[in-house]
Amino acid sequence: MDSNLYQLNEAYFFVLLITTALAILLVRYTVTLRRYLKEFTMVSKKVSNKEFHTRLNTYVKGELGELSKNFNYMIQIMDSTIEEVEYKHLQLTSIVKSISHGILAIDIKGKILLINDIAKEMLKSDTEINLEGLNFKNVVKDKNILEVFQKYVGSTQNEVIELNLKNNIVYRIKIDPVYLQDSKHAIIGSIINIEDITEIVKLENMRRDFVANVSHELKTPLTSITGFVETLKINDDIDKNTRNHFLDIIEKESNRLKGLIEDILLLSSIENGQDLSYEDVKLFDVFKEVYEITEYIASSKNITVDHDFEDQDVHILGFRDNVKQIFLNLVDNGIKYTPENGRIEVRQHYDRKNQNIVIEFKDNGIGIPKESLDRIFERFYRVDKARSRDIGGTGLGLAITKHMVKSLGGNITVESILGIGSNFIVTIPMETK
Ligand code: ADP
Repeated sequence: MDSNLYQLNEAYFFVLLITTALAILLVRYTVTLRRYLKEFTMVSKKVSNKEFHTRLNTYVKGELGELSKNFNYMIQIMDSTIEEVEYKHLQLTSIVKSISHGILAIDIKGKILLINDIAKEMLKSDTEINLEGLNFKNVVKDKNILEVFQKYVGSTQNEVIELNLKNNIVYRIKIDPVYLQDSKHAIIGSIINIEDITEIVKLENMRRDFVANVSHELKTPLTSITGFVETLKINDDIDKNTRNHFLDIIEKESNRLKGLIEDILLLSSIENGQDLSYEDVKLFDVFKEVYEITEYIASSKNITVDHDFEDQDVHILGFRDNVKQIFLNLVDNGIKYTPENGRIEVRQHYDRKNQNIVIEFKDNGIGIPKESLDRIFERFYRVDKARSRDIGGTGLGLAITKHMVKSLGGNITVESILGIGSNFIVTIPMETK
């Protein structure tokens, strides 16, 4: 009986021991789990706040430990993926920003996905705010550009439109469809490239005008020459005086043709950049040389060519032939456009404030009308075409002169009063290169 009771007590004790052990284990597990869940909640909150550098502690063993490791790995992958996406976005934005054209990407509904600052300026829209996400209809302030966008955004074709805007500004707008990846049919938007081609159009027009002018200028003397040659050929009985008169005209027109071709070649050689070496050029020596060349023609009209050099030793670094051509063109024009008994003065002084050498070519000739002052440096521009032609002008002299002065880093301006005279002012930096 006693031994039975003892065995029963032992069994109770054993059950109690196991239950206690189990209870202790359960409490410990619950505590660990709660702590784990708390940490998990905190870390996941941080991750949702984009704090991708946080990690779960991996002290727990077993399945929770495995979960922690996997979770940490997932955060790490998310971190590096987001970093990569951000870097790519930064790269794209920097590229788009540094493109010198206006660039826009617009989705099929008209929402701006991407726009650079140049495009904002070209569209006359607000440059201060972020326009991405807005509809282009509320952003494009220029009416003409808006019309083009409305017509072509979402088009399946590649479109190129040249738009003439106010103040002679010309934009070339290229609109290309953006297809859904791997699909040739599903369009998801348009990419727009706006280029300011004002300068190109201007140069192209100038080139076209130049070719037309050159052809016209060459044609006039040639027509005259062939006309008189033809007349001489078919009329054997022309008297000597008339014959000589015709031959004089042919000679004059041939010289004009020669002068024109020489001037055109000179102009094109300056534009193509001559292969000349810089020299130390003493301006007074150049003046003396030009004086000697023009003396005969000046004295034939009883015109005096005076000089007044503040510094007769003044010299510049430049192409000697070009400097001589500048002096020659301006003195020669002075003589050409000044009636008999007139006076020309070449004056050199310094503009010390702006560190310039100034050379003025002043005459008391016919002067230039106010409305022509801006235009006389243009190629083939002449105030009085017939008169200029008559005295052997080509209309290219001042264009050549201006080019040459510019190549010295200088500038040329003119002041003139009709009937009183003209003053051409050349400024050259003291430190010419
Ligand atoms: P051109 O060969 O006709 O002289 P330029 O280019 O040298 O061509 O000059 C352009 C025009 O400017 C001339 O046709 C003339 O009308 C005007 N011009 C130039 N220099 C003078 C001047 N000193 N006085 C008056 N008019 C001038």
